[in-house]
Amino acid sequence: MVCKECIDTLGDYLDGSLREDLKLELDEHFKDCPPCVAFFNTYKKTTRLCKDALTEVSVPEEVWAGIRSHLFEKIRLQIS
Ligand SMILES: [Zn+2]
Repeated sequence: MVCKECIDTLGDYLDGSLREDLKLELDEHFKDCPPCVAFFNTYKKTTRLCKDALTEVSVPEEVWAGIRSHLFEKIRLQIS
């Protein structure tokens, strides 16, 4: 797995919707790629902060998905 594929699968990984075999590949990739681990941690933290801030209001899943992909794009641009 290359970094781009790794980053593309992170959203599904956090959703719990990632296929088992890809999850294993991702874990393997993390072993030799510290930048992707850093990216994953930042992404996870930002997503969690954002979700916490939004628990007061009820956000439909599609709105939440939009926010998340927006965030994801932003972080991805910072890394590449
Ligand atoms: Zn990588």
